[in-house]
This record gives sequence, C-alpha cells and structure tokens, in this order.
Amino acid sequence: MPKDSFASLKDQVAIVTGSTSGIGHAMAEALAERGVRVVLNGLGDPAAIEKTRADLEAATGSAVRYHGADMTKPAEIADMIGFAQREFGRLDILINNAGVQHVEAIENFPEAKWDWIIAINLTATFHATKAAIPLMKANGHGRIINVASAHGLVASPFKSAYVAAKHGVVGFTKTAGLELAQAGITCNAICPGYVKTPLVEGQIADQARTRNMTPEQVVKDVMLAAQPTKQFVTFDQLCGLMLYLVSDAGASCTGAAYPVDGGWTAE
Ligand code: NAD
Repeated sequence: MPKDSFASLKDQVAIVTGSTSGIGHAMAEALAERGVRVVLNGLGDPAAIEKTRADLEAATGSAVRYHGADMTKPAEIADMIGFAQREFGRLDILINNAGVQHVEAIENFPEAKWDWIIAINLTATFHATKAAIPLMKANGHGRIINVASAHGLVASPFKSAYVAAKHGVVGFTKTAGLELAQAGITCNAICPGYVKTPLVEGQIADQARTRNMTPEQVVKDVMLAAQPTKQFVTFDQLCGLMLYLVSDAGASCTGAAYPVDGGWTAE
C-alpha cells in the first residue's frame, strides 16, 4: 500500500450516520484521527452526545459537528447532508451505518417493526446517497460506504426484516457503484459478522427469549457458532477496511460487498 495513502484524507469531510454509538462511533473516530472533519449523527441523550462530540474533537484535533437527523425522515436526512456542505463546504465520505434490529418469527413480526427496520437500514441509505451524490460530483471525488452485514449475504431465522434490508443494501451498493463508476465516486458495502456493540447486547437478550436459551448459550451456540474464528469482529478490523476503501488506494474497489465475518459466509 502506498506509504501516504491516508495522507490525502486530511481535511476531507465525512458524515457517519448512527455514530453516537458502536461501529459508527468507531469509524468516526478512525476518520477524525486521520484529520477528516466529521459530522456525527444518531440518537441519544443530548448532553451525552455533546460530550461525545467535544471529546472526539479534543482527542483528535479534527473539527467534529453533530446533526440529529432521524433516519426514518427523508427531509431530515437531506438536511444533514446539506449541513456538511454548510459547515465545511464539501462532502467527501458518506458512511451509511445507522441500523436497528428486531428478532421475531415472521408470523408474529409486527408490521411497524418491519417498516422501521426497512426505513433505517435500507431506505435511509438511498436518501442519504441521493442527497450526497451532487456534492461529491461537484468535487469529482467521493467515497460511500454502506455498513451492511453478513446478513446482507446470508440469512438467519427470526431476522426477516433485517436480512431483507441488508440484502437490499448490498444490491443498492452494486447499482450505485455502476452508476458512479466514472464520476470518481466509489460505493462499497462492509459486511460485518458479530461485533459486540449495544445492538448485539440487545440481541443476546432477545434471542435468549425467542429461542428459550440462556444468554451464555446464545453467545456460544448461536452467535459465535456461525463464526468459524469463534471470535467477535473488532472495531479496529472494520475500521481498517473502511480506511482502505476511503483512501486513494481504494479507488478501483466499487460496487462490492466485503465480508469481515471470521469466515461465516464462506460456509
Ligand atoms: P448500535 O446500536 O451500537 O448503533 C446504532 C446507531 O444507529 C446509534 O448511533 C443509534 O443512535 C443510531 N440510530 C438508530 N436509529 C436511528 C434513527 N432513527 N436515526 C438516526 N440514528 C439512529 O449498533 P451497531 O452494532 O454499532 O450497528 C451499526 C451498524 O452495523 C448497523 O447498520 C448494524 O446493522 C451493522 N452491523 C452490526 C453488527 C454487530 O454485530 N454489531 C453486525 C453486522 C452489521
């Protein structure tokens, strides 16, 4: 890899959706540490979010802003993309990461939960990408990363909406990669296996209830059973791939879905 591959990231501008917690926060941090100016987004207690924002800015020396767009609301998503332009005058990197989950058999799956999961995991990716493309085209440069999932490539029972949304994200990624291939803009999906974040902690409890198992059994026999390495994926491993894809070295990678899943989808 060229020695200065990350040097060109300095002073670029990124939006990371769902970055008040988990994978999104780790990706925002990895970008800010390399001099990228970052717009955080996500739900949570306003005072806690402001502390997260200020801490990240102080720790990295990069400018960090926050926009509270609700990913179920297209107008708020478009305003968030415009906010990056208003605050920083450009947009180079969009990471569509916000995601939610609900675990239940299809026959009992609440319609409202289906709509909520599709809206945040899939439709918000379309709205944010649509609004970002003109800004990236104006720069002649852009990087779009969609945080999909191993569940964008294979299925598991009781996750119908999530699996449908993440397969949709992978399909959308391919289309965007093709449409933008000659505009200097790449679009790729990262497909993590299990990462121990608040979302997964919640799933452990949900799966234990649905499958009538203890939380310990869910971790060993359901979650890490699917992952041949028997290890949770780490933030650093996901951020390493993300940084490669947004760097100059990643310019020929587009329209692809990259598993980071300890071998799960090889089976
Ligand atoms: P998390 O629960 O820690 O974080 C989710 C983020 O999305 C939070 O910042 C939350 O505030 C935000 N969010 C939720 N609803 C929102 C809304 N309506 N508007 C704006 N923001 C909203 O989850 P995570 O595990 O870090 O997941 C991040 C992404 O990674 C998701 O897309 C998830 O599907 C995907 N993923 C996670 C795992 C895993 O094992 N944790 C595995 C594969 C894929």
